[in-house]
Amino acid sequence: MRQKVALVTGSSRGIGAAIAAELARAGYAVCINCIERVDLAEALAAKLRAEGCTAMVHRADVSDREAVFAMVRHIEDTLGPVDLLVSNAGIAEQRQFQDIEPAFWQRLFDVNVNGGFHCAQAVLPHMLHEHAGCMIFVSSIWGRHGASCEVAYASTKHAIIGLSRSLAAELAPSGIRVNCVAPGVIDTDMVQVLGQETLDALARDVIPMERLGRPEEIAHAVRFLADEASYTTGQVLMCDGGFFI
Ligand code: NAD
Repeated sequence: MRQKVALVTGSSRGIGAAIAAELARAGYAVCINCIERVDLAEALAAKLRAEGCTAMVHRADVSDREAVFAMVRHIEDTLGPVDLLVSNAGIAEQRQFQDIEPAFWQRLFDVNVNGGFHCAQAVLPHMLHEHAGCMIFVSSIWGRHGASCEVAYASTKHAIIGLSRSLAAELAPSGIRVNCVAPGVIDTDMVQVLGQETLDALARDVIPMERLGRPEEIAHAVRFLADEASYTTGQVLMCDGGFFI
């Protein structure tokens, strides 16, 4: 039987890297994608190959539709058609609403939302043909709740949930499941901008489990949705240490 193929966008580091490693170790042939620091992606691929896993790297900006379709063609030629899409690539920046320029707003939507749209359309023909497949979108707790100074980011993460739930309804009769994970505060480069003092205070005073999440914990949730949750579609799995209960 053909090895299943997974594309994990934004997987050179952080949550995406943990997801790529988890899926590769679970038997998927994975494509590690990133926009920069290809060296990190290559190092992860080499580590996984040394463990006997199958991994390739493809640099592409997910907001660039042509580049996304070229990436999916490269994966098909190298590993085979994509069975599992994990749309994880994302960017974040805190700004007060009155300081948001249109270009900033546009870039967040181009990467966080349009990137997922391009990737989903690029992998869909094979999934429709097979009458099988799985897509998982990485949203955020800020896709379910409002956040001061995060209007642009939270709007994109709400949009991802809307995209994913509607797509789930449309694709369920075609045998394709679509779900979201919504991480809380996870210990990656993305949250370092908040500063250690704020992160410590969040863990101590706000998060009931009294700690930040680890990227591997989001990866476990993604693999559960991909491999175990066979009767689950259109759902948002909150992975936030009880931040919002
Ligand atoms: P990170 O900044 O550590 O890593 C981001 C990854 O995305 C990198 O590999 C980067 O190269 C890639 N990337 C960025 N822009 C890209 C683009 N245009 N095209 C292709 N790749 C691109 O981030 P992270 O903390 O690992 O976050 C991963 C995802 O999880 C994001 O969607 C983020 O919004 C979401 N998330 C993170 C947290 C958290 O606390 N860290 C919480 C909720 C949701």
